[in-house]
Amino acid sequence: MRTLNEDALLAHPPVFLVADGMGGHEAGDVASRLAVEEFARLAGLSAVDPADLHACFRRAAQRIRATFERREGGTTVSGVALGEHEGAAHWLVFNVGDSRVYRWADGELAQLTVDHSVVQELVDSGSLTRAAAERHPERHVLTRALGTGADPEPDYWTLPARPGDRMLVCSDGVSGELAPEEIADVLATSAGSGAAAAELVRRAVGAGGRDNATAVVVDAQVLADGAGGWLAFGAEDADRTWDETVDGATIPRPRSHQEDSR
Ligand code: MG
Repeated sequence: MRTLNEDALLAHPPVFLVADGMGGHEAGDVASRLAVEEFARLAGLSAVDPADLHACFRRAAQRIRATFERREGGTTVSGVALGEHEGAAHWLVFNVGDSRVYRWADGELAQLTVDHSVVQELVDSGSLTRAAAERHPERHVLTRALGTGADPEPDYWTLPARPGDRMLVCSDGVSGELAPEEIADVLATSAGSGAAAAELVRRAVGAGGRDNATAVVVDAQVLADGAGGWLAFGAEDADRTWDETVDGATIPRPRSHQEDSR
């Protein structure tokens, strides 16, 4: 139902993210793409740490502010990156705004990020139920975003990465249209990461499609040759091609990495 897609995504190891831009006159489209460009600089590294991610947040915020000056333009950024701690693989989860990261593991869906939104604060304070929040007229009003004034304030979480982990990064066009039970069902039953992402977007559009819908799904697998316990990643973007996502940046599709690593 939207003429412009203000979502953007990055799906290249070791970084996977979704950015949902906001602001009129195509400002959201530009803001989300600027964020993707900055995080794309990490593509190809074997692992990153929180300082690497935070540097991307700062550079992206500077570029967004410089681009729009007094005009309102900003973006959410939510994602997951591969980190390493004492030789073990870790997920570094990061978020500013109300895009989300979920983990499907051991038959359970866990939302790993906490929205930076007015309704989330009302839920946290006990004055609004989770169900009422999903219908609240101000459910799209954010308390934090990237590029909208103050220095970026992303949240970070670290958790061990295990074979079989299936991570979902999505914009609110997915999480706002599909109940957690339906998201869990798709992640449980889709054979491949690309199929899971495509099915989530297809269902979100079918459920109403009132907003741009973007999903990135990442599967963690043990390398067949047992290379030091490291994990291989497979991820495919669902709603557009890679070349369209990152303007001017020549980065191979993640598919080739996936095939190499099997
Ligand atoms: Mg959105």
